[in-house]
Order: sequence, then structure tokens, then C-alpha cells
Amino acid sequence: MRLYGDPVLRRKAKPLQATDTLTVPGFDPQTVRQVADTMLETMFEAHGVGLAAPQIGLPVRLFVAVEYEDDEEENEGQEKPLKSRVLRDFVMLNPGLKVIDKKKDRSYQEGCLSIPGIYEEGVPRARAVQVSYTDLDGVARVIEADDFLARVFQHEADHLDGVLFLDRLPAEVTEDYRKELLAIQQKSRTFLNDLAAHERQRKAGL
Ligand SMILES: [Zn+2]
Repeated sequence: MRLYGDPVLRRKAKPLQATDTLTVPGFDPQTVRQVADTMLETMFEAHGVGLAAPQIGLPVRLFVAVEYEDDEEENEGQEKPLKSRVLRDFVMLNPGLKVIDKKKDRSYQEGCLSIPGIYEEGVPRARAVQVSYTDLDGVARVIEADDFLARVFQHEADHLDGVLFLDRLPAEVTEDYRKELLAIQQKSRTFLNDLAAHERQRKAGL
């Protein structure tokens, strides 16, 4: 998982096609479907509701998301496996968002797998959106979502433009978490150093 402070989280991601071959740093080239499967698994393991490709170090316009039975992520410590509560999951290539109800929704807590341990209410999000995207078969699709799912789509689409949810909150909030964010940035640097060392070894065939 790429963490806050990683430059890949700040890049504008590039469009992709369902037939592309993708190379996640540290891994062999894979199909888009393989990458999406890994992202879904990673998201479930981390108890997330969405994951964007830049969060695994891949600057392409791809994200996965999930809608759970009760429409909320209130399952911390719950025994029942998350996956059994999945209503539907989504793999979206080149998503384009259109606001269909711009009433600002500030309910729901928002967090991010790349900014572990920080959750905040009050991130302003449109109440309903329409998402146009391409699916894994290369088929163009359109879906409408409101409330929590609309929020998830907006959060993930932001990732593709290098935007994090903290950017949408007043600067004081980021200031309040200064220590935590510095610690995450330090972890991110360590991760990137390890990854670079791993890549050098791989390329040398060790
Ligand atoms: Zn996120």
C-alpha cells in the first residue's frame, strides 16, 4: 500500500484500456483484470470500501469499490467476514463523474487506506453522482449512486487526480494530525527505499 507522502499519490493518473498490460512496481507485468482482482483482495483485507490504482503505485485511471449490505463501514471487530456482506463490487476504468445532486453531504466519516488511522467527518461531497466508466470487458457503462456510495466514488476518483480527502478539509485538520502524518510519511519513505532495493535485486536477477 502506498502511503501519504508517496509522490505517486499526487500524480494525475493516465487513461488505460481493458486490454493493457500493467506493471505494478515490484511485480511482473499483469493484465488489468489481474491487477483489479489483487486490488479487490487488498481492499477487502484492509477493510476498505475502495482502492485506486495509484495506491498500489500504478498511475492509471482505475479504481475498485464495494457496496456492503448496510451501506456503511461499521464492521470493525465484527466476526462475520466482510466479503459475505458484499452487495456488489465495482471495477472502473477511466471513470468520469457528473454531479447529479450537488447538495453537499458532510455526514459519514471518511478515511483512506493510504492515510491509516485518520478518520474525519465533514468532507464535503456531492450527495449523488453519475459515473461513466469502462468495465473489464471494455464495455462502456453508466451508473448512478447516492449517499455513501457516491462519496466512495468521489473519493476514489479524486485519487486519480492526485487529490486526497485531507485536501478537502480545512488546513487546521491537517495541522491537528501533523505528528501522525509525519509518521506516515516516514513509513512511506522506508517503503519506497525497500521497494527500490527490491527492484534493483530483481533487475540483477538475484
Ligand atoms: Zn483513499
